[in-house]
Amino acid sequence: MSNLYPEVRNKVLKFLHGPGEEPTMRVKCETCGHKANINSRNEIDPKVVDLYCTCSNPECGHYFVVKLIFSHSIAPSRRHARQTAFNFLRSLAPEEQQTFLNQARVDG
Ligand SMILES: [Zn+2]
Repeated sequence: MSNLYPEVRNKVLKFLHGPGEEPTMRVKCETCGHKANINSRNEIDPKVVDLYCTCSNPECGHYFVVKLIFSHSIAPSRRHARQTAFNFLRSLAPEEQQTFLNQARVDG
């Protein structure tokens, strides 16, 4: 997943892994309903990952792929907010930039 956008990559990793190394995401076998283990991941696209899973039910053994797709952001990335603010400030005249920054300090 090294090519994922950093914020997407972090969200995917946070979703897949808790503080330790064990995945916290639960995948259920669609055949028998038992928990399945994620064996490996394959990045298809910066926002799409295939998860190769094996059913943990010894009487099933289903080996299958679940597609994990980034859907949408709930809160924008701070990285994008900083870039947007920077672009906005650069679009202002120098004296307007200072006025805006002074106003931001007062309001903050
Ligand atoms: Zn199964």
